[in-house]
Amino acid sequence: MENNIKEIRERHIKEITEFQESCPHPEVSNWMQYHWAPGHYSHDVRTCIRCGMILKERGIENVFK
Ligand SMILES: [Zn+2]
Repeated sequence: MENNIKEIRERHIKEITEFQESCPHPEVSNWMQYHWAPGHYSHDVRTCIRCGMILKERGIENVFK
């Protein structure tokens, strides 16, 4: 069966989502800068060290959409 990049990406996202949903988030990072794209700082976040899920946000009103 052939995989194209779209399928691989979707599978990857699904795996990450499932992992994050099942993670008890045992350790949370300090405040750090979130970049919505390289070099584009938007706001500060604290993420789970284990799964990378964003758990707390501040300065979210500055997010460029
Ligand atoms: Zn976690």
